[in-house]
Amino acid sequence: MIKEFIQLIYPEFCAGCGDQLQFSEKAVCSSCLVELRNYSFTSAKSFFGRHIAEDEIYLFNNFKNKILQKIVYELKYNRNKSSGYILGMELGYLIKKSIHDCSYDFIVPVPISKVKRNKRGYNQCELIAEGVSQILKVPIAFNYLNRNNNLNSQINSNRYQRWLNVEEQYSLIKEFKNYSKLLIVDDIVTTGATINSCIKAIKKNNSKITISVAALAGSKVI
Ligand SMILES: [Zn+2]
Repeated sequence: MIKEFIQLIYPEFCAGCGDQLQFSEKAVCSSCLVELRNYSFTSAKSFFGRHIAEDEIYLFNNFKNKILQKIVYELKYNRNKSSGYILGMELGYLIKKSIHDCSYDFIVPVPISKVKRNKRGYNQCELIAEGVSQILKVPIAFNYLNRNNNLNSQINSNRYQRWLNVEEQYSLIKEFKNYSKLLIVDDIVTTGATINSCIKAIKKNNSKITISVAALAGSKVI
């Protein structure tokens, strides 16, 4: 009742289409969710032919979907934090449906740089991870991974140089020594270099650990 009253004064709008949300809806309207679910997808086990993760799970198969692009923009640049949580829950349901054993020790959100975090006020991958965590009942490993800040500008680098730059970009703050199964959560996987670097940093510390990856979308051609 109070929520409905507040919404009358401060209406909330869908991060996908901009329409006013119904009382029962949160961040993304039900027709945008239905539209997005048409793209729901579980992927194969490699990034561009490189087998680096145990499973690779994308909620939506391609980032070219306009509604998804709009929601991710709202999430990253317009402080629409709820949309990350809602899509994270969707991702959690997909993982539960498609992966037989979801007994991860931790969910590991991909860290963003301190500069971006200060500017944005939050890490959008942590918000997505919170939605996934809610569904899978797996705790989140906050502040285990660190994104180093010593990158050269990527603007003038070619693709291979960018890959090399990203290679050493992440390091561990806390160890995963006594754990066996992790789920890394990212927003959008593009080249896979970020994920590769995160996995390398974790496996340097524990080579036997099994790592799966889940993201809202991947941009690779399938
Ligand atoms: Zn909508």
